[in-house]
Amino acid sequence: MRSVPAVLGLSALLILSGTAASQQPGGGRGGRGGGRGTAIQPGESCPAGTTEIRPRSCMAPESPAPSIVDYRPHSTLIAPVHLVKTAKYPAIDYHGHPQGLLGTSEGLASLGAALDSLNVRLMVSADNMSGERLRTTLAAIRASDKMKDRVRVLAGINFQNVGPGWAEKAVAQLESDVAAGAVGVGEIPKSFGLTVKKPDGSRLKLDDPELDPIWDACARLGIPVFIHTADPQEFFKPIDNTNERWLELSLFGDRRYPQDRFPSFEQLMTERDNLFRKHPKTTFVAAHMGWHANDLGRLGKMLDEMPNLYTEVGAVLYDIGRQPRVAHDFFVKYQDRILFGKDSFQPEEYPYYWRVFETNDDYFDYYRNYHAFWKLYGIDLPDAVLKKVYFGNALKITKALPQTGWPR
Ligand SMILES: [Zn+2]
Repeated sequence: MRSVPAVLGLSALLILSGTAASQQPGGGRGGRGGGRGTAIQPGESCPAGTTEIRPRSCMAPESPAPSIVDYRPHSTLIAPVHLVKTAKYPAIDYHGHPQGLLGTSEGLASLGAALDSLNVRLMVSADNMSGERLRTTLAAIRASDKMKDRVRVLAGINFQNVGPGWAEKAVAQLESDVAAGAVGVGEIPKSFGLTVKKPDGSRLKLDDPELDPIWDACARLGIPVFIHTADPQEFFKPIDNTNERWLELSLFGDRRYPQDRFPSFEQLMTERDNLFRKHPKTTFVAAHMGWHANDLGRLGKMLDEMPNLYTEVGAVLYDIGRQPRVAHDFFVKYQDRILFGKDSFQPEEYPYYWRVFETNDDYFDYYRNYHAFWKLYGIDLPDAVLKKVYFGNALKITKALPQTGWPR
């Protein structure tokens, strides 16, 4: 029925498709889908189990549809492929979670081997270390001839019991951690904003004035604040068939933020932006592109308005790689404000970042199906931009990183 010759008139078509059309009221008018479709009104979506085969005509597949978990089409596209195993320039991973590898010389050696294979020269450990744990970790790093210039550590802030006397203690701890060798603060976790409470039981807001002294101390100490706020906006929405992150939210129930128990995405963004604005002398690095990689116009406005703000690309490659032209222009325009970071330490995943940043390849797989149902494209950044994103911007805002030996 699908290839009715054009010379057949409408009456012939109705005869050919008459049986099916009479079984499905409203189907078949005008030859849509050979008459087997169910008609819908403009703006309506197809009934469950059917798909739009012609304008406003929906049809169900003959075979039972596979679930989204099992549907794995193999692309037949043959197009240039440029795999990039090692970064073109030595990189700083500003969003390191090396998971226990820093504590022992064997762990450090295996970290070093992995970083070598990727051309990551330096990892910034963003595990919120403080006090004794920070000191022990720094001692292990310094004791490693191979790794002593390859890892640096960010300090953590303890946001429990924010109230009278908290700021003095927190500032003193931070000063001591920086004296011990911490190069910045972070990764301030998403629990700050989402779940951390004050002693009176109220939610600790990101822009709470009782926190002001710690942010001012960061400015005085000349250290950047690496901060993760909220999570992708879809995590705050109902899990239905329109949610882009349905599979992830279904796999990881703790990533759902139902609105009766959590602040909204926009509430957290408002508090975060107030925090950035209120402390213009403090350098903030919004992790995960501030969860605005799906709205680079919004992130661009923030960068325009707040000169103290930088951003980092960890775990949002799926959004960068699905808009290669917009992302290319964004990275060129804001080349002085973007830092490379990977987040979860899986050495085999870094080359996807290199391929997106360095090539103009089309339509290739991402490394996690549950993050994205779509393919990635290279954004083909110029060398000068790659150098800033890979290492230059991190060196600029983090004075205590090893500053020599980088390519010009
Ligand atoms: Zn994070």
